[in-house]
Order: sequence, then structure tokens, then C-alpha cells
Amino acid sequence: MKKIKFRIDGKDCTASKDQNLIEAAEQNGVSIPTLCYFKHLNPLGSCRICTVKNNGRTIAGCTLKVDEGMDIEVNTPELLDLRKAILEMMFVEGNHFCPSCEKSGDCQMQNLGYQTGITHTRFPHLFVDRTIDAIPERIVVNQNRCIKCKRCIEEIKTDDGHRVFNLTNRGNHTAVSVDYKQEAKLSEKQAEHAMQICPTGAILVKGKTFGKPFGDRQFDYSRESENMPLEDIKKHKSTNKKKTKKRVATASLAGCFGCHMSMLDVDLGLLDLIDVVEFNKSPLTDIKEFSERCDIGLIEGGCCNTDNIEVLREFRKHCDILISVGECAIWGGVPAIRNTVPLEDCLKESYIDSITSEANETIIPNHEDLPKILDKVYANHEVVKIDYHIPGCPPNANHIWNVVKNMLFEEEYSITYSEFKYD
Ligand code: SF4
Ligand code: SF4
Repeated sequence: MKKIKFRIDGKDCTASKDQNLIEAAEQNGVSIPTLCYFKHLNPLGSCRICTVKNNGRTIAGCTLKVDEGMDIEVNTPELLDLRKAILEMMFVEGNHFCPSCEKSGDCQMQNLGYQTGITHTRFPHLFVDRTIDAIPERIVVNQNRCIKCKRCIEEIKTDDGHRVFNLTNRGNHTAVSVDYKQEAKLSEKQAEHAMQICPTGAILVKGKTFGKPFGDRQFDYSRESENMPLEDIKKHKSTNKKKTKKRVATASLAGCFGCHMSMLDVDLGLLDLIDVVEFNKSPLTDIKEFSERCDIGLIEGGCCNTDNIEVLREFRKHCDILISVGECAIWGGVPAIRNTVPLEDCLKESYIDSITSEANETIIPNHEDLPKILDKVYANHEVVKIDYHIPGCPPNANHIWNVVKNMLFEEEYSITYSEFKYD
């Protein structure tokens, strides 16, 4: 095969003429992330995560064959942000809740989220109502997590050559469907292969989902550079910075109070903390009104009613820096599960049809003193400007306070991968 020369981000590279760019880049020490690309399948070009620029033109890298003199851009700030935005769109388009997902720690999409540093999405979550198909003999297809990469469609075939997965419907309603008759012909091994090649947790094999325990999964590793022990981080923080006590306020909106419980989990660290911060309005101190302007406001929970909106706006007004703490604050979290169901149906189910409702109960509480329930649960950054996001469900206590200390003393801090991952 004829050898050609080309460049990636200014680096001279060689490859065989017409070799696929993803493979050619890999051989030259450059990794281009992908979700739909799969070794022996024809490039699908469906996920667009591998977007690069070829001689200034934006294109899905997996569909590109290298040629003499090509000038490829992969890791420019613009392309890194574009890739991150595409991934964020995938997260908001489906319903992904990693802490309760069987594929967590073994999921390519989740791992890419960590790699690209996603802590929240710049787009609102869509909360689409999708089905989980458990009818097939061996597998379960969870449409909430499918990114329509088409890997399963191209790769999984029965011994007599029939496809098992197909795309149905069009546009926003496109979904991967299962041909039940063909699926029943799959061997256990073929079914497991379907689960493994799916880059998300959309295909699961009944009875096999936790076959590989946490701690032993594909992406369950700590990156060396991110492995600085917490003690060292703390030491690093205390160097030469003038300590001035700063004011912190906290609030819990539509959440379970777990993030506040986590804040208390720092145990003896609370004594160190008192050296550097004093609390103002907070359930931790039971101070109910702001008495002074605060340096930092920590908000747990999202907005599900008018009272939450009022409190959040008040915090924005009284705090220099506002931080969303935990998944409910960042995108709605568990309370946002109701976003897939019309509000009227939720209220009816809760107050009238619920098995715990009084017999003949016909009233949905509605009094002027009660906060009005919103049409859906909103992420805090959809209501006011949020300066930082601390992910987790709940976030680790050390994350929260290290972030606070770093804000106060204007030092760089990034949550380590080993602390942040869910599995
Ligand atoms: S499929 Fe992956 S990204 Fe989606 S919820 Fe599961 S682990 Fe998270
Ligand atoms: S089920 Fe999985 S492999 Fe199939 S299209 Fe969806 S994400 Fe891709």
C-alpha cells in the first residue's frame, strides 16, 4: 500500500493512502474520540463525536480517508468545545442518570463525558418519554439511553444472516426496534456481544447486567495525574494565601437534603472550615434570612415550585458566587422524573388516584399560601446565572469544601476523576 504524508495539529504523520483517519491518527499517537465508529464496520458517521477539520472544512473524521498533504485539525479549542457540545446534546436528548444505570463504569458515553470534563450541559434537558422494551427473549432495550449510533443494527446478525435491530420512525421519533423473532435466535454469547458493542446502556442482557462488578469495569481506573491525595491538595491550598474569613450561605430547593448531609460528612474538617468561613443564611445554622452579603452561595436542588424560584433569585441577589451542588441543582435530578409526565396527571396520581389517598378524595391542594407547582422541574442555570457546578449525587463532602476553599483563595481546583466517577 502506498505510503503518504499528512499532518494532524501541525504534527507530521505517515499512513497508508486511503486509510481511515481514526486508525491512521491512532497509529501516529493521536486519539480521536468516537462513539459510533467500530473496527470492522463501514464508518457510520452518525454520532459526529469524531468531528475534525480537513483543510479548514468541518467533517466527521471516521468518514475521511487520509491522502497526501492533508492538514487535519483535531484538538483545537474550537473542536474540543464542539465535541463537548455534541456530547452534551446527546445527554439532554435522552434520559441518562448514571448513578442508577447498569452500564455505569462500562459505558463509553459516560467515559467520554468524564474525558471532556462535562459537569453540566449548556442545553436544557428534553425529558422525552421513551419506552423500555423488555419483551425480547434475552435482552432489554432502554430507549432512554440510545444515541442511534447504529452499531447494533450493522453488527448484530443471526447465524442465518438476519438483522436483529432496525431503525423505526423518523426525525425526533427515530428509535431502535427489535425483531423479536430474530432476537430469539441469538445465542447467549451473541446477545452479550450486542450489550458490549452498544456504547451506552441502551442494550442490556437479562440476568447479565452486573456480570462485571464495579471496580472491575472497562473504564474503572484512576488516572495517574489526577491521583493527588486529598491531604496533599489541602497542604497545597494552605501555602502563602492570606486567610480572610468569608461568608457562605446554603439553601435546599427541590432536592432530598442529601447534598447538605454530604456537606456535614467532612466531619473533623468542619473545624478547619470554621477557621476560614462563617455561615450566613443556611439550614446548617438555622439562620433564616440574609443578614449580610455573602461571598458564596451553595444551592442544592432544582426549581419545582414558585417558592424555589424566589429563594434562588434571592440567593443570586445576595451572593457574589453562586454554585449548583449536585445533580438535582444541575439538571433537575430525581424530581425531574416527573418532567416526562403532564403536571395534571402527576397531581391526579399523587392526590386522587394514589393508593394512600382517602376514599372519595377529590381535591388537589390549592391554597393561596401554598407555592404554585411549576409546569416542570427546572435546572438552576435555567432560572438564574450559575457560576459553578459541583456534580455528584450527592457530591463528596471534600469536593464541596475544596471547591469553596479554592474559590475563596482564588486557586485553581479540579475535582479528581477518582473522586468524581459514579461507579
Ligand atoms: S448509558 Fe452511560 S451515560 Fe447513559 S446513564 Fe448509562 S452510564 Fe450514564
Ligand atoms: S441501541 Fe446502542 S448500539 Fe444500538 S443504536 Fe442505540 S446506542 Fe447504538
